[in-house]
Amino acid sequence: MVKLSFYGGVKEIGGNKILLEDNGTKIFLDFGMSFGRRGLYFEEYLTPRTANGIGDFLTMKLIPDIPGIYREDLLEHIGRKPEEPNVQGVLLSHAHADHANYISFLHKDIPIYCGETCKNILEAVSEQSQRSIENEVMDFKPRPLYRKDYKKPPIPRIFKTFRTGDKIKIDALEIEPIHVDHSVPGAYGFIIYTSDGIIVYTGDLRMHGLHSEMTSDFIEAAREAKPKVMITEGTRIDIDKTNESEEKVYERSKEKLMKNKKTSIIDFNFKDIDRFRTFYRISRELDKKLVISFKHACFLEKYHRDPKLKAPDSRDENIMLLKPKRLTGTYINEDYTERYIKERLDYPNIITAEEIAKKPEDYIVVLNFWYFNTLIDLKPDSGVYIHSLSEPFNEEMEISFERMMNWLKFFNLKFVQAHCSGHINGVDLKKLILNINPKELYPIHTEHPEMFRKLGIKTKMVREGKTYKV
Ligand SMILES: [Zn+2]
Ligand SMILES: [Zn+2]
Repeated sequence: MVKLSFYGGVKEIGGNKILLEDNGTKIFLDFGMSFGRRGLYFEEYLTPRTANGIGDFLTMKLIPDIPGIYREDLLEHIGRKPEEPNVQGVLLSHAHADHANYISFLHKDIPIYCGETCKNILEAVSEQSQRSIENEVMDFKPRPLYRKDYKKPPIPRIFKTFRTGDKIKIDALEIEPIHVDHSVPGAYGFIIYTSDGIIVYTGDLRMHGLHSEMTSDFIEAAREAKPKVMITEGTRIDIDKTNESEEKVYERSKEKLMKNKKTSIIDFNFKDIDRFRTFYRISRELDKKLVISFKHACFLEKYHRDPKLKAPDSRDENIMLLKPKRLTGTYINEDYTERYIKERLDYPNIITAEEIAKKPEDYIVVLNFWYFNTLIDLKPDSGVYIHSLSEPFNEEMEISFERMMNWLKFFNLKFVQAHCSGHINGVDLKKLILNINPKELYPIHTEHPEMFRKLGIKTKMVREGKTYKV
């Protein structure tokens, strides 16, 4: 008998944690963090306590309380006995936090199956972010009860990577990962051959990106498989056909940056390599240097080593690394303690905000809102700021957005919105589903599952924590 249980991504965007059981075999499809649910109780300065290990997460139902999946050290920490893992693996669709991050809590012997590029991105994330119990995907530091044990080295996780064309076997299950286009490279959908028919899982995908042919490959393979069940994302099921594309982001941004004779600031998500390429292309065409941070360099170097991604190195002649101001404020090498910065201090292309301020028209600076205090050193008297991210969609984001606008106003920077979404629009999604034509549909990763009912396909309104027989 084949069963599906949904522990996240139900009536919410992201946080997917789907348990698939085929007789004795159990696997998870993603094990992500739910931003929405976390935000119900926690915010910037009110966070789950590291000192309480997994306890705060279980109590506040940020993760499901199921046996045989969690780290031994975390269970012992809350006074439970360690458990042997009874799940044979996690199929990770892509490297976004809402699909990957809560792997942190899982037992060290549960292998993670993901694309090679996906693993590279997770490595870049771990290299430049501060270790916390919520992002220990690559490896984790056991949290024992006794202080003397705190010095022990991190325990690595087991990763098994694949590329399109590979087939994975986990006990009796056979799985075919197929690339899809999304706002991060190394994203996959899955065709899963169970003892009771075929299950298709879309992960996150889109048709309007630069690599729609990858999503088409997935659709084609899924259609031919004649699936019994399809688990589909539905982030933008309520959005009609849109006019967005990466090319439009390029055109709009280039036009604004070309006209601008003063400071140019941009912001985008560095996990999105297509967006990086868009701005890299613009900077070269306008004969400006693209200034990135040391954090960005960690990502770029991973991309550069992946020949399929065709990305320049972080020491490329058109790229510069912005040195952050630390400790003494004088940029001496002794000021830096983080490894990802220290290891790169001898790069030839490092620049400071003060140096950029002397000739701002020569640069395009990638600057995230959280680093806007750097504007004080960049001293713009006018210029343009390109916000190449989604617009705020909740109250917290609105507040940050307002604050961001205050900074822009203060430094006389003109706000420009130029973005295209990582998610398929409603029209394309309906077409995709009808094309694959599953016998039954399970919409997740959406706030509007009821909208899928109109398609004339038997549709399950999934309930959290409930188990469904396929
Ligand atoms: Zn997602
Ligand atoms: Zn995603």
